[in-house]
Amino acid sequence: MATTMATGTADTALSFTRLPHPAPVPGATRAEVLADPGFGKAFSDHMVVIEWDEGRGWHDATVGPRGPLTLDPATAVLHYAQEIFEGLKAYRLSDGGMALFRPEANAARFNASARRLAMPELPEEAFVEACRQLVLADREWFPTIEGGSLYLRPFMIATEAFLGVRPARSFKFLVIASPAGNYFKSGAPAVSIWLSADYTRAAPGGTGAAKCGGNYAASLVPQAEAIANGHDQVVFLDAAERKWIEELGGMNLFFVFDDGTLVTPPLGGTILPGITRDSLIALARDEGLTVREERYAFDDWKADAQSGKLVETFACGTAAVVTAVGKVAGHFGEFAVGSGGPGQLTQKMRQKLVSIQRGEAADPHGWVKRLG
Ligand SMILES: *Cc1c(COP(=O)(O)O)cnc(C)c1O
Repeated sequence: MATTMATGTADTALSFTRLPHPAPVPGATRAEVLADPGFGKAFSDHMVVIEWDEGRGWHDATVGPRGPLTLDPATAVLHYAQEIFEGLKAYRLSDGGMALFRPEANAARFNASARRLAMPELPEEAFVEACRQLVLADREWFPTIEGGSLYLRPFMIATEAFLGVRPARSFKFLVIASPAGNYFKSGAPAVSIWLSADYTRAAPGGTGAAKCGGNYAASLVPQAEAIANGHDQVVFLDAAERKWIEELGGMNLFFVFDDGTLVTPPLGGTILPGITRDSLIALARDEGLTVREERYAFDDWKADAQSGKLVETFACGTAAVVTAVGKVAGHFGEFAVGSGGPGQLTQKMRQKLVSIQRGEAADPHGWVKRLG
């Protein structure tokens, strides 16, 4: 039996039909998964699907059993990569409640990505409500381990079966959920970064500021090169001058100087506007720290790390939250950052952010959205 709940305001009203799962994962199997979920390899029982077409706009919103999609082989997304996604986490709060962290920011960024990829925007309330509905349906899927969360992956694909090159006329929005432990397999205290000499991630005028699958497809070869050389992640320089540090394949960067100031590369079309990045800028400023959004040259990073002017570097993003960068290597050679392990400010910023996300510290910016 399906139940329908109307949500949203008058002009964005979407009703989510709940389709109960006929055969959810057995409790014992689920418990095993939740004790050691890893990242992105286990999935919950349900998914949200919302359809869009030119005539009807957004319609047919369901929270139903998770399962394969059936797509015509000519489906546009399979050929021209008209696809965007988001990543956010649902947390169990210290008082037992459940919450999302800044889901409105993900909704707004999703629509910015949609505009860049010529896709329809989804009302922000519908995006947040879709995430909420899935967490409520899959509330048994929170990991039982320390630091665990339920990672949500909202995404949109072009579903029209048509090989002409133009924006599709039908789309599907989906949300799936994956219990998550530590992002980095080793749970390493600091990661080692590889400088890509041959590849860039984003060019001016390109799609670097949009969260689209195509950006990731293009980063796989340089990322594989990083792994082949014994490092964890790849760092990209700007495409125009090959001089300025941009970001990692999926995380933004911060640099900490010996006078306590922080620098992070400025947004400007080629960098993904990370919500973790934005949150850390605000939290550092709350602490009275100076944060400058300005370009930082790779050669300065190397020289400053060697002279001791640069004391810490960390990467940030939803999946791994805050991760210290301990070593940087490339065809030029290599250098260590600070002690090679996580620095003081890196640990402090991580702790500050995580304690807000978990409901263990005050939330002065109103970032934690309780679900109930
Ligand atoms: C998603 C992403 C980030 C991090 O964004 P958050 O909102 O902090 O998770 C950084 N860089 C790239 C390329 C990304 O795709």
